[in-house]
Amino acid sequence: MTDKAADSSAREAEDKDRHPLAMETLVSLCAARGFVYPASEIYSGIAGFWDYGPLGVELKNNLKARWWNLVVRGRDDVVGIDSAIISHPRTWEASGHVDHFSDPMVDCRSCNKRYRADQYEGGRCSKAPKDHPTGECDLTEAREFNLMLRTELGASADTAIMAYLRPETCQPIFSGFKRVREAARQKLPFGIAQIGKAFRNEITPRNFTFRSREFEQAEMEFFCHPSEREEWFAHWREERLQFHLDLGIDEKLLRTRPHADDELAHYARAAEDVEFLFPFGWQEIEGIHDRGDWDLSRHSEYSGKDLAITDEKTKEHFTPMVIETSVGIDRTCLALLVAAYCEESVEGGETRKVMRFHPAIAPIKVAVLPLSKKLAEPAKAIQRDLRKHLNAFYDDSGNIGRRYRRQDEVGTPFCVTYDFDSESDGCVTIRDRDTMDQERVPIEGIVRRLRDRLEEGL
Ligand code: ATP
Repeated sequence: MTDKAADSSAREAEDKDRHPLAMETLVSLCAARGFVYPASEIYSGIAGFWDYGPLGVELKNNLKARWWNLVVRGRDDVVGIDSAIISHPRTWEASGHVDHFSDPMVDCRSCNKRYRADQYEGGRCSKAPKDHPTGECDLTEAREFNLMLRTELGASADTAIMAYLRPETCQPIFSGFKRVREAARQKLPFGIAQIGKAFRNEITPRNFTFRSREFEQAEMEFFCHPSEREEWFAHWREERLQFHLDLGIDEKLLRTRPHADDELAHYARAAEDVEFLFPFGWQEIEGIHDRGDWDLSRHSEYSGKDLAITDEKTKEHFTPMVIETSVGIDRTCLALLVAAYCEESVEGGETRKVMRFHPAIAPIKVAVLPLSKKLAEPAKAIQRDLRKHLNAFYDDSGNIGRRYRRQDEVGTPFCVTYDFDSESDGCVTIRDRDTMDQERVPIEGIVRRLRDRLEEGL
């Protein structure tokens, strides 16, 4: 973790390659439109924690549903679980987190602040000269700082036990391996997946939601025979890259990066990151790892329960190898927001902001807009029909042009306009977010028509 964190931070600092979008533009749009904003904002926020608003939660849920449908429901060889956030403390001894999950940290004796050792140069902490008008820093030696968040369980001070909020979601998959395999009657090769919260006491949370202290991961551990590990690693690397491309992210903004030998965890045979070009440079959004038999062997050793399996045909008794895919939901949401953001000039010299979300992840799929408040009744009836099938929004305030712009800014693929002719001709206008083309269509069959058009883009 230490070398890796230092390396990642150095790349963050040095990478001149940048997405042209300014982060501040996105951060303020996200807050103003209710995608993401600081947690506990009225108390000036709390570093590393973020709340997802009405649109952000839809975006996040759409992303999670897409992952789940593809990785779990779409396959016979992967099953899902939803484990407790708190595990028996021995879990984290077995996984190596208690001893090794740390970043190097220094304290400044002058300002009593704490910094990541790899984020200052030449003995000057990153806050100088603001915190030190003289530019003098008095730093301690670097020490390892464990990133796991702790809590106490039990009411009485004498008997309370210390526990950790999980720093990753995969360990309960390993400790529950035997139970899940038997319950789901799975034979090798097969995988176990889950989506859930993870917590890391990052020393310097930053870059909006990119490095948070509370975040969500979608992880899948695929168990296979040792002879098949390379084949499955290659399979999952392709699958996972394709997943991001299929979300509509331009291939110029995505790349894979194999880990160098000195970056690999001591138990790992291979690892590759899927990276996205953020406004702060190329950064990891997902990792694909060959973890060998490290996790199952360690949990066997620490629990005393044998997690090896016996092949029914060959009678070979062995510990399966694990190929892991681990994607950050929040980092991917951030990548989707960056990739979707677009400003373009339209007729009249105006600039319109558009979030060009892929229809599958767009928070609102269709907005129903009556031309006048007098037409509210029939327009709401259309929205009622649509919302049985998709997230349909209703808006009758302001002029129609402004209402279109508001929907563009939150990435709604289609607007349905009910006008004064609709009553007599039984038709409405569908306006396309990206082309701004308008099509007059019958109200009857509108649900099917919109679903077809949304699926065209899937
Ligand atoms: P980094 O090197 O950036 O700290 P990592 O290699 O430690 O990341 P993993 O432990 O492989 O990350 O976790 C898998 C995924 O979980 C990452 O690809 C990322 O998307 C997400 N993730 C990890 N740490 C954070 C964090 N602090 N905030 C948000 N997402 C995170």
